[in-house]
Amino acid sequence: LVHGTYIICENEDGMYIIDQHAAAERINYEKYFTEMKKVKHDTTALLVPIKIELPTDEAIRLKHNIGVLLDMGFEIEEFGINSIIVKAHPTWLLKNYEQEQTRKIIEVILQKEKDFSIVKFNEKIATMLSCKMAIKANMNITIEEMESLINDLRKCDNPFNCPHGRPTIIFYSNYD
Ligand code: ZN
Ligand code: ZN
Repeated sequence: LVHGTYIICENEDGMYIIDQHAAAERINYEKYFTEMKKVKHDTTALLVPIKIELPTDEAIRLKHNIGVLLDMGFEIEEFGINSIIVKAHPTWLLKNYEQEQTRKIIEVILQKEKDFSIVKFNEKIATMLSCKMAIKANMNITIEEMESLINDLRKCDNPFNCPHGRPTIIFYSNYD
């Protein structure tokens, strides 16, 4: 591991430099995106419901687009003019970050209101959450963690780029 950021590994063909944050993002992204594409979502009920307050204009716009949240597996009740109560959320939402992630999703819904496309929306949410969830650069991980990262990356549909387009792997052949 170099600078707590790049994993160096080898096989008979040559040498690989793997960006651990970009690799973890790619793995998370494919996991989130697969979950989000499902028609029927697994939901988790919250022990303590989350209350989200918004400026009145945003609350009104959100209420017009509440179907997006319901389709994702959120269970929501209106609360007063400018608040909603979240009683359950899709299971893929990260534990302890439910409030923060729900707010981010609402932000994207309010931005995308005009030309809403569910695929684009899912891509954006999955990219955002995958970055948040990924091991950071400058973080020393164990050999076991490196190995499982590389194994998970190998299983990805597109292992070569992070969802932002940055390369995850640089390869040097024996010849290079
Ligand atoms: Zn990132
Ligand atoms: Zn990225």
